[in-house]
Amino acid sequence: MKTLRLKPGKERSLQRRHPWIFDSAIAKGSGDAGETVRVEASDGQFLAWAFTSPASKISARVWSFEESQRIDASFFIAKVQASTKARSRFDIKSDGQRLIHGESDGLPGLIVDQYGDTLVAQFLSTGAERWKTVLTDALLATTGLTKLYERSDTNARKLEGLESAAGWLRGDGPVELTLREHGWQLSLDIATGHKTGFYLDQRDSRQKFAEHAQRLGFERVLNCFCYTGGFTVAALAGGAAHVTSIDSSGPALERAAANVALNGFAPERATFLDADVNASLRGFLEAGRTFDAIVLDPPKFAPTAAHAERAARAYKDINRLALKLLEPGGVLFTYSCSGGISADLFHKIVASAGADAGVDGFITERLGGAPDHPMTLEFPEGEYLKGLIVLKKG
Ligand code: SAH
Repeated sequence: MKTLRLKPGKERSLQRRHPWIFDSAIAKGSGDAGETVRVEASDGQFLAWAFTSPASKISARVWSFEESQRIDASFFIAKVQASTKARSRFDIKSDGQRLIHGESDGLPGLIVDQYGDTLVAQFLSTGAERWKTVLTDALLATTGLTKLYERSDTNARKLEGLESAAGWLRGDGPVELTLREHGWQLSLDIATGHKTGFYLDQRDSRQKFAEHAQRLGFERVLNCFCYTGGFTVAALAGGAAHVTSIDSSGPALERAAANVALNGFAPERATFLDADVNASLRGFLEAGRTFDAIVLDPPKFAPTAAHAERAARAYKDINRLALKLLEPGGVLFTYSCSGGISADLFHKIVASAGADAGVDGFITERLGGAPDHPMTLEFPEGEYLKGLIVLKKG
């Protein structure tokens, strides 16, 4: 068994059960990609069993903090079972759910989403890759399903020194699926869609948006960064008269329009714009257009804290424009899914956007990802998605 010995004073984060070991914390030792190693403090005391990622700045990630734990197939079966059991205690009003959320479920680098009878997995770390067959078997045995599609085709694989991989790992079937969420239908494509095909993390927010539409009676809604139209369908289901949806991806917009039709909403209630959001917001402002409700759900502007400053400017800009475009009494649902932007910083950015726009508003709610995308006490980085509902004063 290979060993990683930490530098003196570098054991504290592991003692708090944080699962990452940075290159800079290691005094000596290494392992092959995905190999299980013993991690010890500078005095030789056991700290954790971890897998190594020689290509990454995060040189190792922890499987277990228990010295007596063997890292073998039964360890992974137990982890998968525990994650699945936890989901049965969350309130998930959909037949789509995240079954495994990486570090938060004790499986660093493994993402698994379930869409009806199909599982879609991303093996994004050397450790997840090393145990792929065992994990795949455990996932199918635990859920009783037979189909698992791999979408290990993200940048995260490159950072781990792994090649991109996608396709059916087990079973075979359609890659175009339809999800039932809150009683709506949402179609998606697991082979070509973003992430594993859909943004399950915004499930609860979409419901809240529908409730706001119903309670406040929106006439004109603007859904920015609409992807396949989740918030668009939510607004229409809540009774919004008309929704304008913007995205820069043609295929996403086509599916968004298809999703409006799938739910039986008249096509004239929805307009789709293949455009840049920032430029569109500026255009609306010049044209004197206003909206009763706006959603801003942009892509990750700051993947890490190093990008935070430039990202902060980009977030502030769109929020300032959106606050100006809202009618008095209008509602803004605004988000950041950047790991590098804390909830506190996001709040400050939106506040400063309001100040620049000369707009005040009530923050009626702070939002996060749906509960099947959990953050844990030990791994605060699990909080990537944060949002605010702002009710414009007027
Ligand atoms: N709200 C969506 C998810 C949004 S994901 C949901 O609930 O499903 C972010 C989207 O922003 C992606 O679809 C991407 O194509 C789009 N996007 C990225 N940059 C953009 C830009 N500058 N202008 C318009 N859309 C953009």
